[in-house]
Amino acid sequence: MGVLERVGLAGPVALWARTEVTGPVSRVVVARVTRDAHTHSHLRPTSALLLEAEDRATASETDSFAAVLVKADRHGETTVGESLRAYLPNELRYLEEDDVVRVDPLRNRVDVLYRRWSEHNSLLVTERCNSRCVMCSQPPVLRDDGYLVPELLQAIPLMSPETRELGFTGGEPTLLFDGLLQLIRAARDALPDTQLHILSNGRLFVYQKYANRIAAARHPGVVFGIPIYSDIPRQHDFVVQAKGAFDQTIRGLLNLARYGIRVEIRVVVHDQTYQRLPELASFIARHLGFAEHIALMGLETVGYAKTNLDAVWIDPADYQQELLMATRCLDRAGFRVSIYNHQLCLLDRELWKFAVQSISDWKNIYMPECAPCAVRSACAGFFAAGRLRYSNRIRPIIA
Ligand code: SF4
Repeated sequence: MGVLERVGLAGPVALWARTEVTGPVSRVVVARVTRDAHTHSHLRPTSALLLEAEDRATASETDSFAAVLVKADRHGETTVGESLRAYLPNELRYLEEDDVVRVDPLRNRVDVLYRRWSEHNSLLVTERCNSRCVMCSQPPVLRDDGYLVPELLQAIPLMSPETRELGFTGGEPTLLFDGLLQLIRAARDALPDTQLHILSNGRLFVYQKYANRIAAARHPGVVFGIPIYSDIPRQHDFVVQAKGAFDQTIRGLLNLARYGIRVEIRVVVHDQTYQRLPELASFIARHLGFAEHIALMGLETVGYAKTNLDAVWIDPADYQQELLMATRCLDRAGFRVSIYNHQLCLLDRELWKFAVQSISDWKNIYMPECAPCAVRSACAGFFAAGRLRYSNRIRPIIA
């Protein structure tokens, strides 16, 4: 049972909220959620005690916890004790045992860093980037956000070692250099059986030494997801808005392969990339046979994709021929191929077996047209941002 069913939510899940945070501590705390008021004293400094509105806890019972999370509005309640106390708004009242939160009294904000029962845990490790992709869903921010790494180094050991997969995303994680290596080592030590999926443009692996250092971190579960948008260098460079990026990424991929680091190739299909999908597939098959997975992905219409919507949007129904040719080529070449973020009713039937429910649960929706659909439970549906523009050829499949 997934977290949505467990907590009765239907639709996107909030991962942060502004709320009232009171208490004497003026620094950010990162803590694992617990309902156990008798948590051992040595675990309390990294635990956040979760209270229902009707729960009563004395100051002596809560003092040594890093934070107290109350599923209620403050209603004039006066703060007791020495712990931070955050009043959870409705959208964060799904929090449960073993989730991991960041409580920020300076900005009156609670962030959910990890949800124990979700299959879609991903850590934003930096917002800085060295590319400016025309359809970037998380536009880069120039400010120094180096404070994130120490917080995430606190968070990772609080996560369950049974977590199947954890993502690192950005921005561009490789810009962290030593910070990224620290995060990989922390995941290796605390979550040795967890696959670590790192989204990167791969450009900095043009430096062989960097790839070598990643390999030396010896985390067998590391997979780098790296995008290529065209087999023609200037077209790829246009999409990422960085001259020379194609050359750097391809050399970076080869360096990762040289050191035995696992890679996945990701292709976002949009109006600037769909036409050469078959040729790109052929290029990948000829030159990048070491990639263990190829993901052909639909567009998320937020960030720069929203800004540049008219330049990047194309109805997926209109590129089925190119998608079919590319998928056939890659499949026949022996790659594991997945089609992400696509609605089944738009996909050629031959492609259904490659389609994956890839959209993270916290931003996954279905449109009103989907209500009677017989394959809804197998369909990826839409990004929440998909309401902005989506195909007018969505049709429910009637069994
Ligand atoms: S109608 Fe909705 S649920 Fe059904 S296949 Fe289309 S997008 Fe998916």
